[in-house]
Amino acid sequence: MKALLVRKDDEGKTSAAVEEIAESDLPDGDVTVAVEYSTVNYKDGLCIGPGAGLVRTYPHVPGIDFAGTVEASDDDRYKPGDKVVLTGWRVGEAHWGGYAEKARVKADWLVPLPDGLDARAAMAVGTAGLTAMLAVMALEDQGVKPGDGPVLVTGAAGGVGSVATAILANLGYEVAAVTGRAEQADYLRSLGATEIVAREELSEVTRKPLESERWAGCVDAVAGAMLGRVLKQMKYGGSVAAIGLAGGAAIEGALITPFILRGVNLLGIDSVMQPYENRVRAWQRIASDLPMDKLEAMIEPATLGDLPKLGKDILKGQVKGRVVVTVAG
Ligand code: NDP
Repeated sequence: MKALLVRKDDEGKTSAAVEEIAESDLPDGDVTVAVEYSTVNYKDGLCIGPGAGLVRTYPHVPGIDFAGTVEASDDDRYKPGDKVVLTGWRVGEAHWGGYAEKARVKADWLVPLPDGLDARAAMAVGTAGLTAMLAVMALEDQGVKPGDGPVLVTGAAGGVGSVATAILANLGYEVAAVTGRAEQADYLRSLGATEIVAREELSEVTRKPLESERWAGCVDAVAGAMLGRVLKQMKYGGSVAAIGLAGGAAIEGALITPFILRGVNLLGIDSVMQPYENRVRAWQRIASDLPMDKLEAMIEPATLGDLPKLGKDILKGQVKGRVVVTVAG
């Protein structure tokens, strides 16, 4: 069967190419899945390319998420023919992932495909979309609701940002989308954004303790200087769901003032180790709250052979929306 295999040479340089592998090469697990679709997330870019400490052993099959059909199962919860989706649990990093025609994984890591989503739609959502939903749910838990004021989405034309924009708009929030790509403004409006904010407007590190109140909530995929600025612009009692660090691992220019003078909440979102119940709840919310026409508009189709280039593109912030990789067939 075909797989995207990443190899590391004696000098530590990695290279990725589509190769034939045998089913016996797959790692141990309770369930074997015939993979139909996978996707390209930021972490996949790291695992296809430099590894970045995520990949421990080579050769490696990346792909941090996949959807497909159970082919064989040693676990009572799954039987051949069941449709399943997998995100997280370090699959595609510490365990071979979705960039192969079959994957063998622990049954605990799988979720049955929710009603209303087929395998392709589930991967159009993928890890990025699950994370976007978890972020929206975290804002809701803090009491952020439609009518409170605009909710900002940073890195909006990327995977998490696109899905967060569409979900929030569908739930009735006023969505302000930050992008560094002015040419994606129409795309973001088509997903439901009512305001487009240029990345430069929020990229400067300032020493001000607070700025004018603008945002009731925020889904932040970027961190860095932008998160430092956004925190100072939050409305009283507002919440920021921090999901990623596409713009840097630090929160530059941040001060304590928004937290003690405006009661701002900073919520960290992790999609990797989410317990089964949370993942099922989030997938059901996705099936009900993410309009399929908006999801369709985000899809960029790809094949296994496209992955070496796409891995580089996503690390440069050049991928729009959600790449859906057809693995089987
Ligand atoms: P994408 O590359 O699809 O999106 C990131 C977006 O951020 C880009 O499209 C771009 O959007 C913007 N961006 C990129 N570089 C910069 C920069 N230097 N400064 C400001 N903005 C920038 O990635 P994903 O959406 O898949 O992931 C986003 C982040 O979330 C990553 O850090 C990823 O590792 C993390 N993540 C975390 C998860 C979790 O469980 N917490 C799960 C999934 C992802 P635009 O062009 O519109 O400005």
